[in-house]
Amino acid sequence: MSNSVVLCRSIPVLRFSTKLLKLSVLSATLFLSTVSHAWHDLGHMLVAKLAYDQISANDSKLAGILDNLTKASCDYFSGLGLESDQCATFVQAATLLDSYSGKYPESKSWHYINMPVVFDEASSKVNYTAVTEAAAELPNVDIQLQYSLQVLRNNRADILEGHIDDETSKAFITVIHLMGDIHQPLHNFELFSDVFPNGDAGGNRLDVKGVDGVSNLHSLWDSMADKYSDVRWYDSDALDQVAKFKEEVSQAVAAGYSAPFNDLRVMVDPWNITSAINLEMQHRVYDDMYSGVTVSDSQKNQIQLDATYLVAMAGEKLARSLQEVLGSSQRRVRQISRPVAREAFDSAFQRQLKHWFSRNMPQVSTGN
Ligand SMILES: [Zn+2]
Repeated sequence: MSNSVVLCRSIPVLRFSTKLLKLSVLSATLFLSTVSHAWHDLGHMLVAKLAYDQISANDSKLAGILDNLTKASCDYFSGLGLESDQCATFVQAATLLDSYSGKYPESKSWHYINMPVVFDEASSKVNYTAVTEAAAELPNVDIQLQYSLQVLRNNRADILEGHIDDETSKAFITVIHLMGDIHQPLHNFELFSDVFPNGDAGGNRLDVKGVDGVSNLHSLWDSMADKYSDVRWYDSDALDQVAKFKEEVSQAVAAGYSAPFNDLRVMVDPWNITSAINLEMQHRVYDDMYSGVTVSDSQKNQIQLDATYLVAMAGEKLARSLQEVLGSSQRRVRQISRPVAREAFDSAFQRQLKHWFSRNMPQVSTGN
């Protein structure tokens, strides 16, 4: 048997046989039993605070629309049994989707996409069936974000008139959360290797030491490597803490971003964000990181800085996206005819994924 398993270009990655779907559900279940949701509450609230402040400084009408959306969405989610205090403000509402997915597990895969990272192509242990399944799991963060933005775009006229239906509420809460998640590198890819033949579940299975309150690579990034003290949405001083840390983030990026974040910064389309994060961040995240590693000060500092950049640009992009779909700018993308066809997003994604595999894993084939 050859060392490198080759995956030809007509790989059956995109054929969703019943068996594959069952396997996908199984692997998703295994993954989710250990996963935590990026970022922690603080990261999501920072993204929302950055976006909201930017919007209210430039477009008070849109800020008012966002307040209306927050209130209507909160009524809808409270009706589903979630705590209304968690969506009392736009900033806190950015954490709501994690609680929703805790209650409705079928939505957990909305928060991530597992594009495979295989550094050692000669590995004889990597399970290439798992590699293709990981990438093909649906729905993922790209589709859910893209779809939800389109729902807002299509329902814009109603939203402006104050008619906010359940579909709109769900899309709104999804957008303000997932624009954060998609900028957490480990919500975009997972490592397959001799040590992790079936994947490291976005760093959840890769144990690390040396950082307070952090036990694995995924939570190292979720916590922004312990850069800011932990703040939960329900803390009595949550909004004050977020405002204070938001100033720190703004100062950190005031002089601009360093490479590779300048490239990432221009991406707004979800799939482009995922592709760019895969390209730019895989080595930054995984180099010198192995199970049981003690995180050095320089690694910690690097992650803190990288995470600050990513959270800052997520805030910028959330503001831009909300302006594009709901603001008065004439540069909005056209509405598409109702109803917004979810299947169209799935099939577009399958084409993109096939293209990605052909470009990024051309040496891989299903032959033995
Ligand atoms: Zn999440």
